[in-house]
Amino acid sequence: MQRLHARYPFLEAARESVATEAVDLATVVEQDRAVVDRARQRVSTAIEAGEIGEPHRDARIELLSYPVARVLVSMVDERVLVRKYARAEAATAYERFTADMADTTELKSVESTGLELEELLAEFDLQAAVRAADGEYRIDVGTYLPLAEDLWDDEWRLVNQPLEAGEIPVDEDELLTLLREAIRGRIDDGLPFEVPEAIGSALEDETAEIREVLADLELTQDIDTVVPDLFPPCMKALLDQIQKGEHLPHHSRFAITAFLTSIGMTTDQVVDLYRVNSSFGEEMTRYQTDHIRGDSSPTEYSAPSCATMQSYGDCVNKDDLCERIPHPMAYYEQRIDDADDEELEDWREAEEDGQSASGD
Ligand code: SF4
Repeated sequence: MQRLHARYPFLEAARESVATEAVDLATVVEQDRAVVDRARQRVSTAIEAGEIGEPHRDARIELLSYPVARVLVSMVDERVLVRKYARAEAATAYERFTADMADTTELKSVESTGLELEELLAEFDLQAAVRAADGEYRIDVGTYLPLAEDLWDDEWRLVNQPLEAGEIPVDEDELLTLLREAIRGRIDDGLPFEVPEAIGSALEDETAEIREVLADLELTQDIDTVVPDLFPPCMKALLDQIQKGEHLPHHSRFAITAFLTSIGMTTDQVVDLYRVNSSFGEEMTRYQTDHIRGDSSPTEYSAPSCATMQSYGDCVNKDDLCERIPHPMAYYEQRIDDADDEELEDWREAEEDGQSASGD
């Protein structure tokens, strides 16, 4: 079962298998470089790309890297890191279990590395709260609410749900998203924790390295320059569609809005940038932008990584620079660094100049 546990290390059975192997984490971090390296990579990739990187080919190393990654997150002791890490682990688990469920070819056996929907529901004690009915599912409202709590999109709000007899109908995609949230909640739970001295002292270098990666990201978020000509191709395309008044799916709208807030735009500025076309919904844009910025929610969201953009079909018109970066923010940062001063006129200043010239 080690391969299944390595693939889904948040499972209760995986935790038990680490415990029953009588693994002493202090010895592992002291003696097993491969485990520590993979743990560090798990956390750094979570910060940089919103996922946890390629699994190690050795299932034992992969499995043990999970508790060590949790130790590293605890040692850095920053709420933003806990959030990013839990989201990245859950996003990777989601990719894996949706692929497992779509894969009907594997012969199920004890060595199976796949996870079925029923197993996941059982893992989170959800069998009684989720009923299959007429090709979709119905979920108890009391179970739904905490699972949907961190989903930014308006469609998840209770007021927009057809509540019937204490149940909410969800389709399979929505149910899988709620399961991803259950995983995120479990991973987030208990982090950060107190790290015993014997383990912590062996991981000081890795902790310092992760702090640097985190600091780099915060620098990236301090860009505060808005030059749409230098946006990555994906974000240019999304902005263009919004400005033409085209309807965007929620994930696309989320991506462009999170990108714009990450480069320093206020809610009013995002609304103004979208306003080129009068048919955009100002109220909805304000609500979503405030939510993504963390003004009206406990979470400040960052723009999705290239891998996530690709999986949603939002990665379009890739150019040479795209081949060398993992994240649209990294693309933009590079273009800003490479630009001449005259190319760097901030859209917000140009707007202000335009308004004073027209006497506004
Ligand atoms: S590779 Fe990344 S930056 Fe380039 S278009 Fe795709 S998502 Fe955008």
